[in-house]
Amino acid sequence: PVSRQRKPEWLKVKLPSGPEYARIDRYHRQQGLNSVCRSAACPNQGECWSKGTATFMILGNNCSRHCRFCNVSSDALLPPDPQEPQKVAKAIAELKLKHAVITSVTRDDLPDGGAHHFVALVEQIKQQAPDCRIELLIPDLQGDWLALQQIVESGPDIIGHNIETVSRLYAEVRPEAEYQRSLQVLAKIKQISADIISKSGLMLGMGETEEEVLQVMHDLRQQGCQILTLGQYLAPSKNHYPVQEYITPDRFKQLAEEGQKLGFEHVEAGPLVRSSYHAEEQFVAREEK
Ligand code: SF4
Ligand code: SF4
Repeated sequence: PVSRQRKPEWLKVKLPSGPEYARIDRYHRQQGLNSVCRSAACPNQGECWSKGTATFMILGNNCSRHCRFCNVSSDALLPPDPQEPQKVAKAIAELKLKHAVITSVTRDDLPDGGAHHFVALVEQIKQQAPDCRIELLIPDLQGDWLALQQIVESGPDIIGHNIETVSRLYAEVRPEAEYQRSLQVLAKIKQISADIISKSGLMLGMGETEEEVLQVMHDLRQQGCQILTLGQYLAPSKNHYPVQEYITPDRFKQLAEEGQKLGFEHVEAGPLVRSSYHAEEQFVAREEK
């Protein structure tokens, strides 16, 4: 592990600031909204929020799973707030966001994994903020394809499901997830609707080999996955899975090139890339190709 070493220069970012950042930050506090940007202490808040992109997290603050790289807690799981879809859509409208990313914790305790909540939210956003592009980042729903179908048919613009890491590391870092099942989620999205853009992402630096990363990229393409994000894993605390390696910016660039060769319509790769980083640009860049 490299976690005791100093972080390389390329991972240092400026603290968030600027009027747009302040506006969205204030709004989150006032409304008691959960955003991934804040709860994951994402290093890109200043940049994303000043461009009108934010990521909301629905279905509560606590997750039913225990991924070793993740900062979300798995304490008491509360029933979803029935008002949440309406509240989040109102926030998106009032913040005049151009591109909203909505993700959730995993809720294996709910019969449909929370699919209804996603559907209700998409409907609300379409009513309250019809010009905002909708990107959902969904869990694997334990392979409940009917639940997935409902989400897809609600008609968001983009659906992402992050594969997160290479197959070999699943047992260790994502014990309740399955590599093949995550691939199937991506395949099904395109089978249900060819029009929805599918997307996935990995965090690098958890001890994966170069060959393994290329294998994942290949597997994603086999499922018709169109957008790929690659970022550096950063351990949220000493108790989380330790960072094994800091990947250099050049290496990210090479991987992006490999991804383009494999046929991804857009690859966003770099040390600070998160799945929702430059989400709007990722979409636009692939449209322009
Ligand atoms: Fe929020 Fe995603 Fe941007 Fe991070 S990268 S600030 S989580 S929108
Ligand atoms: Fe975190 Fe998602 Fe894993 Fe839950 S399923 S612990 S939210 S990465």
